[in-house]
Amino acid sequence: MIAVVGSLNLDLVVPVARHPVPGQTVLGGDLAQHCGGKGGNQAVAAARLGRPVSMVGRVGADDAGDVLLGALAAEGVATEYVRRSEQVPSGRALIAVDEAAENTIIVSPGANARLSAADCAAAAEVLAAARVTVLQQEVPHEANDAAARLAGGIVLVNPAPVREGGNPLPSRTDVLVPNRSELAALLGLAPDALGGEAEVVAAARRLRGSAGAVLVTLGSAGALLVEGDASTLIPPFPVDAVDTTAAGDCFCGALACALADGETLERAARFAAAAAALSTTRAGAQPSLPTRDEVERFTARRGAAR
Ligand code: ADP
Repeated sequence: MIAVVGSLNLDLVVPVARHPVPGQTVLGGDLAQHCGGKGGNQAVAAARLGRPVSMVGRVGADDAGDVLLGALAAEGVATEYVRRSEQVPSGRALIAVDEAAENTIIVSPGANARLSAADCAAAAEVLAAARVTVLQQEVPHEANDAAARLAGGIVLVNPAPVREGGNPLPSRTDVLVPNRSELAALLGLAPDALGGEAEVVAAARRLRGSAGAVLVTLGSAGALLVEGDASTLIPPFPVDAVDTTAAGDCFCGALACALADGETLERAARFAAAAAALSTTRAGAQPSLPTRDEVERFTARRGAAR
C-alpha cells in the first residue's frame, strides 16, 4: 500500500480574453471545475497504476470537500484519513487562462493548511504499514515531518512548491524528487541557475546529506538519478507533448508504485518517466494520468521501436 500525505484542491478554471489588471473586472467564459492539488494528483496517479492508496489530508465541511472526497473514492483511493475541517473551507485554486494559454493562479490552501502532526498521528497505522509514503509541500512542514517519522517504508519527498524563507526537509527523506528549478531554489539559487547535467549533479550532491537519493526531473530531457557517488541519466520517452500539467505529479505517483512493487530506484525511475511522458500526450491534470495497461502498452511499443 502507498500512503499519500498532501493537498486536495478544487481547481476553478475560467477562460479569459485578457487577464484583469488590479481594479478591473473582465467577463470570462464558462467555468470548468477539476479536482487537483499535488497530493490528490499523486494519489490518483498511483491508484490508476493499480496500487492500493490511502490519502492523508484535510478538506472543509463544504460542497467542494464532498466533490474532492467523492472523486478520490471513485478512483479507489481510501479516504478514511482525510479529515474535515468544520470552520475552514476546502482548498481551491482560482485559475484564469488567456488566449495565449498563459495562466494566473491564486491558491487558497484552506483546510490543507490545517493538516497537522496530530492528523498524521491519527493515521499512524497506515503510515507504518505503507511500503512508500509520498509527501509534497502544499501542507505544513510539521505534518510532513510527523508523517516521515511514522513511515514504516520508503519516504519519497517531492519538494513542490519550495517553501519561502528556508525549506527544511522532513526528518527522514529517502528519495527527494525536485524538478530543476526546485533543486535550485532548495539551495537558495535562482530558478534558472542550473544549466547542464554536471551542474545538476553537483547541486544534487550538495543535498545528499539531507536525502538518501536525489532524482531530478528535467522535463523533456528526462531525469537524473544521483545516488551515492553515481549519477544516472534516465532518458526521456520522446512524445508529442500537448499538455505537461501534472507530469511531475504523474512521475511521483508512478515512482511510488514501482518502488512499492520492489523495483530498484533506477528501474522505478524509468517506469515513472514512461508514465509521465504518456501523461503529457493528453490534456488536463487528473484526466491525463495513465493506467498500468496503458503504460505497459506504451513501453512495449517503444521497446520494439528502439
Ligand atoms: P514538473 O511538472 O514537476 O516541472 P517535469 O517537467 O520535470 O516536472 O516533468 C516530470 C517528468 O515528466 C520528466 O522527468 C519526464 O520524465 C516527463 N516529461 C515531462 N515533459 C516531458 C516531455 N515533453 N516529453 C517526455 N517526457 C516528459
